[in-house]
Amino acid sequence: MKDRLEAIYRESREAVQKISNLKALEEIRVQILGRKGRLTALLHGLKDLPSEKRAAAGQAANEVKHQLLQLIEERVIKLKNSGWASDQEGSIDPTLPGRPPEMGRLHILNRTLREIEEIFTAMGFAVVEGPEVETDYYNFESMNFPTEHPARDMHDTFFISDKILLRTHTSPVQMRLMEEQSPPIRAIMPGKTYRVDDDATHSAMFHQVEGLLVDREVSFAELKEVLALFIHRIFGEKARLRFRPSFFPFTEPSAEVDMTCVKCAGRGCSLCKGTGWMEILGAGMVHPGVLRAGRIDPEAYTGFAFGMGVERIAMLKYGIDNIRYFFENDLRFLEQF
Ligand SMILES: [Zn+2]
Repeated sequence: MKDRLEAIYRESREAVQKISNLKALEEIRVQILGRKGRLTALLHGLKDLPSEKRAAAGQAANEVKHQLLQLIEERVIKLKNSGWASDQEGSIDPTLPGRPPEMGRLHILNRTLREIEEIFTAMGFAVVEGPEVETDYYNFESMNFPTEHPARDMHDTFFISDKILLRTHTSPVQMRLMEEQSPPIRAIMPGKTYRVDDDATHSAMFHQVEGLLVDREVSFAELKEVLALFIHRIFGEKARLRFRPSFFPFTEPSAEVDMTCVKCAGRGCSLCKGTGWMEILGAGMVHPGVLRAGRIDPEAYTGFAFGMGVERIAMLKYGIDNIRYFFENDLRFLEQF
């Protein structure tokens, strides 16, 4: 009798301590203390004992029952506190490595823009922003596009009213800056711009970064140096530049700046249509008329300006062939960067 009680206690205690979920613990409790449990059966058997032994055996059995109930109770509390309590066997495996939470990241255009900003701020340029809804004066007239000037047709403009429009370039911020600040001025002006345009390489909304430097005796050579530094930082030291004469109303002389093809490094391929060069940005010396409109004396100061498309830089840098990918917010695209 005594041995059987001890065996029940020892085996039950081991079983209870191994249990890691509440459901299994309840099963163990029923096996020992349930209506057909081992200890219950033993208690029932007491009546067959000689009366002189019955009292002592009954006391011992009840003592074991009490201890086991306490063990089970403690185990329940421990399981609930540890968070392992689960109704489903094995539903939580604490040895599994944790799942890392999904991390957000900057959109590829914002990353490209920040990279551009870092390169220019390192060269001493400030970052300045301006309104996206502009007046005709700032967007066109002050930038040397007189009314009826054919150059206005180069910009397919979203007009809000006769004199109010969505800016077609970030250049109006130049004018606002020149009005506010006297030279030396050294700033880049990033932001959204809008044109009625929509194909694989043009979007109705796109991002530009404008650059402006005005000071005494600023030369075209300095423009070239700044742009070469920028291109080398963003595309690597091997990229070579070439300036082609061009026309913009707000600069004179003006140039389109080409870079050796990112894919074939200048040998000629389908991306650069066999020329080995790709157009990357527009630049030039600030037109005296624009300086005057900005209340800066063109006899005392000169300056250069440049403008680039952020989408274009990102497309060339990361080999993206359709501008629409930037705006579709398809995670399969965005998560590649
Ligand atoms: Zn090429």
